Amino acid sequence: MELQAFLSRRVVTPDGIRAAGVLVEGALIREVVPSDQVPREAKIIDFGDAAILPGLIDAHVHINDPGRAEWEGFETATRAAAAGGFTCVVDMPLNCVPSTTGVAALEAKRAAAKGRCWVDWAAWGGVVADNQQDITKLAGAGARGFKCFLVHPGIDEFTMVTEQQLRQALPYVAETGLPLLVHAELPGHIDAATKNLEKADWTQYATYLQSRPEQSELSAINLLISLCREYEFRLHIVHLSASQALPALRAARLEGLPVSVETGPHYLHFQAESISRGATQFKCAPPIRSAENREQLWSALKDGTIDLVATDHSPCPPEMKRFAEGNFKTAWGGITGLSVALSGMYTEARAREFSLTDITRWMAEAPAKLIGCQLQKGKIAVGYDADLVVFDEESEFLVTPERLHHRHPFSPYLGEKLKGEVKATYVRGGLVFADNAFHGESKGRELPA
Ligand SMILES: [Zn+2]
Repeated sequence: MELQAFLSRRVVTPDGIRAAGVLVEGALIREVVPSDQVPREAKIIDFGDAAILPGLIDAHVHINDPGRAEWEGFETATRAAAAGGFTCVVDMPLNCVPSTTGVAALEAKRAAAKGRCWVDWAAWGGVVADNQQDITKLAGAGARGFKCFLVHPGIDEFTMVTEQQLRQALPYVAETGLPLLVHAELPGHIDAATKNLEKADWTQYATYLQSRPEQSELSAINLLISLCREYEFRLHIVHLSASQALPALRAARLEGLPVSVETGPHYLHFQAESISRGATQFKCAPPIRSAENREQLWSALKDGTIDLVATDHSPCPPEMKRFAEGNFKTAWGGITGLSVALSGMYTEARAREFSLTDITRWMAEAPAKLIGCQLQKGKIAVGYDADLVVFDEESEFLVTPERLHHRHPFSPYLGEKLKGEVKATYVRGGLVFADNAFHGESKGRELPA
């Protein structure tokens, strides 16, 4: 088997950032050695001062395929991921048709993915109003865990769950030992706020923000924590936005409950105050909140209350964003920017004196644990998949449509000047992306069980 040696003065290993050679034999990391101890037979690729990180894992992506491939699709989503330094993405169970709420739907997704992925992938199953009987079957068929919504998810075929329906599902979820990912907003506060805003100007971002108050996240999270205590399942809060919910999450973790928390790069990079009138590319749920809220989220990453960062890349055709009328009420909610999310994160992290070690923890190690592949992926270590990302920390660039590789190249990141650029991405030892172009073939595969 061919031996490759990836050299850099900044290799991000579990023991810190150091000069090293990563020896790759076939698809796996054989050893990490001092740069002057690379075996003579190895093919040397020297990246100099550019850092080498483990391939990132995005635990929250909406590929929408099969069924709504005109919104995104396996080929475009995984290309965008490769360009962004992600070597594995985990697909959400909704917006595809059929929704992944049963084994047949999971098989349909596998058929759609076959031969079309540039990075590795895995699937979340769905928990909806009436599929309790499918939960353990989905786990047996290879779903990495489950996703549910406590509020309407934007499409009708993936039903939200009430507390009662959730209580029916939780014993099955607990039995699988897999995590339940919850979109944590309760409809009560949202419905009341929206009713009061009937005559407001919905081209203003502030109107949308008021319609999704922090209390809706806080009350959902309080409910989930008490259910977690009662049913002893692994609870994962997806895309936390409201900093008001942090004290409850800190307390739950101190209590020893199996709770993990995710937020998104957009909540850590953007701020509500700067979103212009009609800029519906910024609409997502829960919403991007104030600059002050953003700083609280950064503090929670620092103290470990938030475990990980995932993009929630959720594309749609441009018509659905209704850019012409710029109406935040009727526009589809979803953020896109898989290809530049790492640079967005790095720009903000660096300004707050975090390092690539922190980013690797949030975007590779912790998501690997969530999806149960922490012995194969998420670290540069002996025996791990040779998923490697070459990242130039000093490079700066302006986000243009050519930088976005998902199907419809609009994004709130367009026009942003970001620091830190993905120079190359290797999936299991093979080059897939370098210098803004794709290489090799689409050899991504579903994560083995
Ligand atoms: Zn999502």
